[in-house]
Amino acid sequence: MHHRSLRQQLTLLVSVLCLALMCILAAGAAYIAQSRIRQIVMHYAAQEAALTASILDRGMFERHREARNLAAMVPLKTVWSGSKAGIRQVLEQLQASYPDYAWIGYVTPDGIVQAATQGMLEGQSVRARPWFQDGLKGPAVGDVHEAQLLAKLLGPSPSGEPFRFVDVAAPVHDSAGQVAGVIGVHLSWTWADEAREAILGEQARAAGKSIWILAGDGTMLLGPGVGSRPFGDDIVAAMRQAKAGAFEDETGSEAMLTGFAVAEGYRDYSGLNWIVVSRQPDSIAFAAAKGIVWTILGLGCGIALAGLIFTLLIARRVTRPLRAIIEAANRIGRDPTISQVPRVSGSLEIVQLSSALRSLLRRAGAAEQQVIATSSQHEKDVTVLRHLAETDALSGLLNRRGFSLLADDAFALYKRYERPLAVLILDIDFFKAINDTYGHAAGDAVIRSVGEILTRTLRSSDKVARFGGEEFVVLVHEVDAGGIITVAQNLRRAVETLAIEHQEHSISVTVSIGGAMAHRGDADIQEVLERADAALYKAKAAGRNRVVVDGLQIQLATAVA
Ligand code: GH3
Ligand code: MG
Ligand code: MG
Repeated sequence: MHHRSLRQQLTLLVSVLCLALMCILAAGAAYIAQSRIRQIVMHYAAQEAALTASILDRGMFERHREARNLAAMVPLKTVWSGSKAGIRQVLEQLQASYPDYAWIGYVTPDGIVQAATQGMLEGQSVRARPWFQDGLKGPAVGDVHEAQLLAKLLGPSPSGEPFRFVDVAAPVHDSAGQVAGVIGVHLSWTWADEAREAILGEQARAAGKSIWILAGDGTMLLGPGVGSRPFGDDIVAAMRQAKAGAFEDETGSEAMLTGFAVAEGYRDYSGLNWIVVSRQPDSIAFAAAKGIVWTILGLGCGIALAGLIFTLLIARRVTRPLRAIIEAANRIGRDPTISQVPRVSGSLEIVQLSSALRSLLRRAGAAEQQVIATSSQHEKDVTVLRHLAETDALSGLLNRRGFSLLADDAFALYKRYERPLAVLILDIDFFKAINDTYGHAAGDAVIRSVGEILTRTLRSSDKVARFGGEEFVVLVHEVDAGGIITVAQNLRRAVETLAIEHQEHSISVTVSIGGAMAHRGDADIQEVLERADAALYKAKAAGRNRVVVDGLQIQLATAVA
């Protein structure tokens, strides 16, 4: 099972939170900024078109006003009825004041040009021209058109394109209020181009901007493809309806931000409803918006990254004391000399954890000491109890239980390695009589003394036990049949020669001994003991104070001196 560390978990959690928050924030901010900037850029495009339209309208208004003034000025009334040269002088003065005047003429009501700048078209008829027709009725303007009569006279234009004019006309009245003639002005269309250049400038052109002027019906007047219709009728209608605004034109090869404004005239000049269009590729117009979006997203990522690093540091700081506690706790597990965790500083919970652990370990330490003390006492008690359980209280020899444990082990060894093993059972002769003669206490003293002498006489590897009564059992190791007789006789003699002092009495006793060697066919030590007991019975029967060993024909009589 793989567990993530607290540090990893904290870092993961906070970085996911950070990232999610930053994504939402950055995306939101980017969206708002982008749409706001788009609005501003579009508004600016419409403004630019409106400004151009306003400049054109004011220019036209000025030309319109000048023609009217010229026609209406009282001191000039005599000039119009005067000589050709006089009229031409006034007209040429006016032309000199404004270089975009291509031609100014005075036409009599019959449509014949009376006088004109540089004498152009003098004597010719302009009756069919719309500006003349309109001019007879009142001040008039005519939309852009190519030079008709003047084209030959003006020669080729500097740009190679045909000369185009906007016409302005105003009627001249005589003192009776009758129309005496019409003043016609042809304004060179390059005027509009200059106005456009003034607005655009080099920088705007470099940024892909262009300004077009369309006639009210959408025909291109100034811009690429003069005479063509760059927009569909529905778009033209919508532009005329809206008067000013901006939209994205996606009909071409590249999407264009298109601002527009309808030129509706100025003061009493009612305008020709030109539509001024300002154009710029979307990619350039909205570059700033895109840039801001990327900046915001980049900032968002940067902040998220900073948050992540900050979280890593904080998480490390938070978990460091925790690690110290864990390491100390681990050391306690391995090293018995360490029993306490260090005091740590950190957040409240960690300080509390460390102090809780410290008091817990203090209690655990005290409990451990108590357990050690108790268990060593137990060990001692168990040793004493085991000793008691395996010892005969009167003689201090092994009891039946203690003997059995040893004898079973020895028998197992005998079985496995065939190490010779024998048992002797000794019974004090006529013991009842001692009890009867000297009392029970004397009997006890005899039992104790016989036990002691048996122990002393035997090798330390041979064990003496008392099962109860005045009977003793001896386990003899590493003896053959001859050896067991010798051991038994030694014991018998040792008891026989013993004088037991008890309350001024010196008591002597003898023992009868039955012996048996362990045989291959024996299932357990009990079988050996049974044979030894049977031999003891024979020894008693044979007269006591003697040794009988099972299986040996010779019943060894009392040790004859
Ligand atoms: P034998 O030669 O046939 O063995 O004769 P005996 O008198 O020893 O006969 P028996 O073995 O029947 O008698 C044993 C007596 O030992 C009986 C009992 O009162 C006495 N006795 C048994 N245990 C104790 C003891 O712990 N202390 C004392 N003082 N006497 C005991
Ligand atoms: Mg007995
Ligand atoms: Mg006896």
